[in-house]
Amino acid sequence: MSDCIFCKIAKHEVDAKIVYEDDTVIAFEDTNPQLPVHTLIIPKEHRDHIGDAVDEVLLGHLFATVSTVAKLKGVDKTGYRIVVNTGEDGRQTVHHLHVHVLGGAQMPIRMGPAD
Ligand code: AMP
Ligand code: ZN
Repeated sequence: MSDCIFCKIAKHEVDAKIVYEDDTVIAFEDTNPQLPVHTLIIPKEHRDHIGDAVDEVLLGHLFATVSTVAKLKGVDKTGYRIVVNTGEDGRQTVHHLHVHVLGGAQMPIRMGPAD
């Protein structure tokens, strides 16, 4: 996708603070961190969201990379939250599949009962 910012990061066409990279995934720092550690992991190949023809091998590798990133960021012992916002109700703003890894402090509790 030519106008997708995360595709551009995956192709090194746009700067990002890269935490980890291999042939199929890349992890980089979120530019608007919500916690001291806030890293995004994406597949290099564009997928709109987790329901967009993501094959199981890619999905497995994407999520296996979570623990790699957690170790690199030093939160593997203290814990972290992973979030995959999906679609409008999920408040996804960048429409290239990404996993948020959030840690380095306790998560604020924001979720409440549904109306
Ligand atoms: P989401 O609401 O799940 O779609 O989150 C998108 C995330 O991408 C937000 O946390 C943004 O701060 C982050 N973001 C947007 N543009 C960039 C960028 N160029 N580099 C790093 N993170 C970005
Ligand atoms: Zn993309």
